[in-house]
Amino acid sequence: KNESIRVKRIQQQNQSLKSKVNNLEKESNTLRKTILSSHEKAYTDPLTNLPNRLSYNQHLEELFSRWERYHENLLLIIWDIDFFKKVNDNFGHQAGDEVLKMVAKQLREQLRKPDFIARFGGEEFVSLLPNTSLGAGFQVAEKMRSAIENLKFKYKDEVIPLTISCGISLFGKGDTSKDVFERADKALYQAKKQGRNRCVIAQD
Ligand code: GH3
Ligand code: MG
Ligand code: MG
Repeated sequence: KNESIRVKRIQQQNQSLKSKVNNLEKESNTLRKTILSSHEKAYTDPLTNLPNRLSYNQHLEELFSRWERYHENLLLIIWDIDFFKKVNDNFGHQAGDEVLKMVAKQLREQLRKPDFIARFGGEEFVSLLPNTSLGAGFQVAEKMRSAIENLKFKYKDEVIPLTISCGISLFGKGDTSKDVFERADKALYQAKKQGRNRCVIAQD
């Protein structure tokens, strides 16, 4: 009789342990999902849904260390919407936001899967194209630029004229990421100075 009581008690303890383990598993699944979704949020720009600057920094670090090891081509492009302030002034801030979303989508759509594009801030975007020569990169950039030019983006029945400019720079011997970014930024400045709606390759 004693033995039977003992077995019953052990069975009950077993059952209660099982249910505790079950609950812990559920809890850890929920936590894992929460962590994944906060991670995604932290690395995504909420307006355009593109990766944000934090994500860009991380991506750049990874691609840069790979480039240092293998020296495969790596291209950086800085994008800046032309006269974007006028969009806000003439059509309102909300129209400006819609333009940002649409431009982001169009730019992303012209790129291949391994290429990266982030919203760097405001109306500026940065692309990183691995295994891409200057010539091929320029062609891609031109395709992106012309996609924006041909957008005919309508907001409340009015077509908002849109163009974008970019500066392109290739990672070269002895470069830091900062060097490449500065060169691309200077090229972008040239694109603006030369009349906008154009892509300019950085001079070394
Ligand atoms: P440029 O051709 O020289 O680049 O001229 P620009 O007008 O585009 O340049 P500027 O830097 O003077 O203006 C950028 C504008 O972008 C100003 C700012 O209010 C607007 N902007 C930045 N972020 C956002 C945003 O999230 N939403 C909206 N609607 N506007 C934004
Ligand atoms: Mg700007
Ligand atoms: Mg601008």
